[in-house]
Amino acid sequence: MKLVMLGAGGFIGSNLAEYLIDRGEHDVVGVDVSAEKLTGISGGNFRFIEADITKAPDLTDDLISQADVVVDLVAYANPSIYVEAPLEVVRLNFFENLRIAETCMRHGKRLIQYSTSEVYGKNPRRQKFIEDESDLILGPVVKQRWIYAASKQLLERMLHGHGLRGDLEYTILRPFNFVGPRFDYLVEAGTRGGPRVFAHFMSALLTGGPMYLVDRGTQRRCFTHIADANEAFTVLLESPGAANEVFNVGNPDTDTSIRDLAILMQKIYEDLTGKSTHNELVEISGEEFYGVGYEDTNRVPPDISKLEGLGWKPRFGLERTFRDAIQYNLGQDHE
Ligand code: NAD
Ligand code: UDP
Repeated sequence: MKLVMLGAGGFIGSNLAEYLIDRGEHDVVGVDVSAEKLTGISGGNFRFIEADITKAPDLTDDLISQADVVVDLVAYANPSIYVEAPLEVVRLNFFENLRIAETCMRHGKRLIQYSTSEVYGKNPRRQKFIEDESDLILGPVVKQRWIYAASKQLLERMLHGHGLRGDLEYTILRPFNFVGPRFDYLVEAGTRGGPRVFAHFMSALLTGGPMYLVDRGTQRRCFTHIADANEAFTVLLESPGAANEVFNVGNPDTDTSIRDLAILMQKIYEDLTGKSTHNELVEISGEEFYGVGYEDTNRVPPDISKLEGLGWKPRFGLERTFRDAIQYNLGQDHE
């Protein structure tokens, strides 16, 4: 198949590119504003074009017209951006993504859209999140953190509507905190806001700085090894049963509080390096860490029976997921 991957230079995109190059089954054209994370990632079946999709509609139209499947990974995906620049989030994550979907419709191309587990929002911690059953409950407007989930939710609803009308074939993925190589970016000791939690805690381990526990670190997440996420992608790409459906991509067995994650990462770092860690665990409010408009949320484990029904199963537990990601960062040159 010929794939066009928009946002190929990001964390998920660069890992997917590497994985698809190794498999060698599909021809992939990757597009991104940045090629930094694709350094050293190349192969005969992968071509990269550096472009801003918001400024190059003719290019995206042309690429989509020549593809079999379009994979849309373009988004602002860090909570600190939702708080600082909510309008940019809705412009990119809703309007620009919708434009991609409309281009797919015009050319009759299938769309694989990365959404988010955050669409489930503030669901009470009683049950698993189930794709076609759980309510999607978002916080107040003054907590602009929810603009991300709102944009993604509306996009999902538009794709569903077009699917009902027979305009579009789509598959929606809802990722549950994927972790792996090339995750966001490292920061200086004591930095607030910025990247997602793995990058913060990894930076703290490397610098000896504090590990901030937002709102006491009692909130929970399920983390997914990027290798499992890559496999989920190919299962969905190749399954006729994925047409016009939404799938959780996550590992319910990795459920952890953020405080326990900080302690686990310290332990893994000590095992891998033989050095002791002295990172102070510092409790901080969400507004102090991210700014006014942040609200934290608990996430319950995903129900993954829908994707398991297509033959996928996550293989990596919590410890292995973080061991591999930390090991990757230890192998990098940090000056
Ligand atoms: P990322 O920020 O690493 O990747 C997004 C990529 O899109 C970046 O490389 C960025 O440069 C690119 N991009 C942004 N604007 C662009 C533009 N105008 N033109 C071209 N490229 C542009 O994020 P990620 O973690 O790889 O996430 C990919 C997708 O998965 C996003 O839609 C995100 O919302 C979703 N998602 C990811 C996770 C996760 O666990 N990583 C969780 C939930 C949802
Ligand atoms: N978090 C934290 N310390 C940090 C960074 C994040 O306690 O240094 C918390 C954050 O408030 C959230 C969780 O870790 O509760 C996961 O945050 P992340 O940004 O990785 O992803 P989210 O799942 O919230 O999109």
